[in-house]
Formats: sequence, C-alpha cells, structure tokens
Amino acid sequence: MKEIKTAEILCVGTELLLGDIVNTNAAYLSRKLAELGISVYHQTVVGDNPERLKKALADSANRCDLIITSGGLGPTYDDLTKETIASFFGRNLVRNEKILSHLEAYFAEMGRTMTENNKKQADIPEGAIIFRNDYGTAPGVCIEDEESGVTAVMLPGPPRELEPMFGEQVMPYLEKRSDSILVSRNINIFGMGESAVENILRSLMENSVNPTVAPYCKEGEVRLRITAKASDRNTAYAMCSEAVEKIMETEVGKAVYGIDSDSIEGELVAKLIAKGKTIATAESCTGGLIAKRITDVSGSSAVFLGGCVTYANSAKESLIGVKHETLAAHGAVSEQVAIEMARGVRQALGTDIAIATTGIAGPGGGTPQKPVGTVWVGISGEKGDRAVLLRLSSRRERSYIRTLAASNALYLALDEI
Ligand code: ATP
Ligand code: MG
Repeated sequence: MKEIKTAEILCVGTELLLGDIVNTNAAYLSRKLAELGISVYHQTVVGDNPERLKKALADSANRCDLIITSGGLGPTYDDLTKETIASFFGRNLVRNEKILSHLEAYFAEMGRTMTENNKKQADIPEGAIIFRNDYGTAPGVCIEDEESGVTAVMLPGPPRELEPMFGEQVMPYLEKRSDSILVSRNINIFGMGESAVENILRSLMENSVNPTVAPYCKEGEVRLRITAKASDRNTAYAMCSEAVEKIMETEVGKAVYGIDSDSIEGELVAKLIAKGKTIATAESCTGGLIAKRITDVSGSSAVFLGGCVTYANSAKESLIGVKHETLAAHGAVSEQVAIEMARGVRQALGTDIAIATTGIAGPGGGTPQKPVGTVWVGISGEKGDRAVLLRLSSRRERSYIRTLAASNALYLALDEI
C-alpha cells in the first residue's frame, strides 16, 4: 500500500447529529493525525443510516488515503458501520473464532451472559487487520483496499475505548505506513500577543515547510509549535532545534518563558526546586487561582508553603497584616496594598518569595480611576518589594481577567527568581 498523506474522519451516530453528545472523537483523532504529519481535510458526521454512510464513504474515498471512522461497531441493530464499509469495499464478513472466544471470556469475567447479538462483533471483513479492544467488546478493524489505495480504520465510539486503541495500536500501525518521523518542539510565550509574534516571525512562518512553525494561543499565552519531518528522530529533532534557536534570537525570545514546557506554573515550580527556594501567595481578586495552579504541579509541596485568600479588607488586615491606614488612604486595589499583602504573607510563612494580587475582576465595581481589569500584582523577595500594575481589558469577562491576573503573577515570580 502507498504512503498515507491525507485522512478524513467520519463519525457515525445519530446522537451526534442531535447534539446529545459532543464529537470529542473527531477532535482527538485530528490532534493525533496532526502529530503523525497526516493532513486532515474533512470531518464528517452521519447518522446511523447505511445509505448516507455509504455516500459519505464514497466521497471520502475519492479524496484521501485514509478514512477513520468512529462508532457503530457495537452489538445493537443500529450499529452498522462495519457491515456498510465491508460491503463498500466488496468484502464478506467472516466470524472470527478467536475474537468470539475473547468476547465469551469478557462476558464471563463480568459475570454476564452473552446474548446472541453480541456475536456479530466477532464478524470481521475478510483480510482485515484487527485492533483488540482492551476496554470494551467491539474490536477495531482496518481494511487496506489495494484497488482504490484507500485504507479504512474503524474504531468503536466510546472515547475510553477509542483513545487507547488508537494510541497503543493504530498510531504504531500508521507510523509503520510512513517513511518519515515527525518531531515537535514548543516555544511558550507570555506577555506578547499572537499578532505581535506573527509580525516579527512572519517571513519565517510563511516560508516554513520543514520544519513548520505554527502559532497556537490561549488566554494571554502564545505557543509556537515547530514540527520537522525526517527519516529519523535525531535528524528531525536537530531541525527543530535549529529553528528554535533562530526564533530565540529575535525579539520574541525575550517573551519566552519556557521551551517544551507545559505551563508558567510548571516552569515556576521547577525553577524554585532547582534553586531551593520557597513561595507563598496572598490573593484577593484571583480568589485562590494562583495557589490552585501552583499546586496543580506535582512536586509543588517542596516549594509552596501556603497561601491566603484575603478577599475582605478585614481579612487583609487580620491575616497578613495589611495596615488599616494603607487601606484607608489608597483603597484595596492599590500598589501599596499589593506590596503589603506580599510582604505580609512572606513574613507570616517565612518564604523566600511571595506574590499577591488585588484588583477589579468585574463586571461591577469599576470606577473611572480604577476600571474593571485594573489589577496590582505585588511581589516580595530577596530583591525587595514592589508591585506591577496590569490593565487588563475592561471588556473581557471576569474569568478571563482572573486567569490573566494569575498568569501575570506567576510570570512575575518566575522572572524574579
Ligand atoms: P458500543 O459498543 O458502545 O455500542 P459503538 O462502537 O457501537 O460502541 P456507538 O454506539 O456509535 O459506538 O456509540 C457508543 C457511545 O460512544 C455513544 O453513546 C457515545 O457516548 C460515545 N460516542 C460515540 N461517538 C462519539 C464521538 N464521535 N465522540 C464522543 N463520544 C462518542
Ligand atoms: Mg453502539
């Protein structure tokens, strides 16, 4: 069979069309195929209807090398994917005794009796490749059709069956069908917008073929994914690294907080561990989000001693010693209070560094002087105490402002050490 370059995803299930379930299988499969360097040009959803499935198959088979289906492999009357695809490629279904005994064992183990209709899950198109189902009953099936050059992979609908089957068996199969290996590296950027990044790297991105450079953004962060294709892993990795170095030499390099890292908090915890330093938090407008994100990182107990959510002024005073006069003179959302919060929690817990947030997350509470999105981030550490003013967009929703305030605080702490 020829090399697989293009794929389509065909999800079967009336419940998808009715909006009863979200098509997470399509998203998962698209992501995985991208990792393999296989281009996905279409995703299709059809109901449990053999005629429409056949029509969708015919369309896909004309356009791509690989069709991956999900759903309709089970035992019930509406599970018709295998039958329809086998007939499309002119193959008979043959009962596979090995799968049948595997099914019988599965039911025995569960203490259930196997009904007659379950046996059809052991019917396999002639000459097909079988992917075993470790988490359910219906095996996956693959037909390599020499005549059309099309490969069809059929997977069960439940994500908890489909995902491990794809990851553990289909991925290795597809890798074997490819002459090349794909390696990706990620550059994580904070504090520089996607358009600013693109502006600096435009020519590099537009001309990128191998490796490719593609931006992805999420709430205040930009991730550049560099992907190289080569005959072996080391060559592909070296090609990626060369592109990474080139990018790091540009203005963008200054906003990079990590390479191949998961998150700002992940980098922060790793750096604190490496330097043997500890951290504490005092949070107002972020309501514990910073502490949550730090403690999401496994191993954070070595560096995170604790945090306070001091929402009311009285809590700021009684728990972390913010002065009554400071609050009265400057208001809770102020440079002075942010500094006193950070200093107070650092003293209370005896950490090397502390960060604090106080701001207006909205939608209410803004004033002309302090509009929604005004956030002060305080930092107290060996280099002294200071606060940074953030002006996050007043038009954004509360959750965005809180997330961005937390990200900025974490980034500031990372920068400080
Ligand atoms: P089963 O043996 O469970 O019947 P099946 O292969 O026949 O599996 P379906 O009957 O089409 O698959 O779907 C079973 C369940 O799997 C659905 O009710 C749904 O919960 C989930 N599912 C199916 N397709 C998708 C999809 N595209 N994305 C997410 N979940 C899905
Ligand atoms: Mg089913």
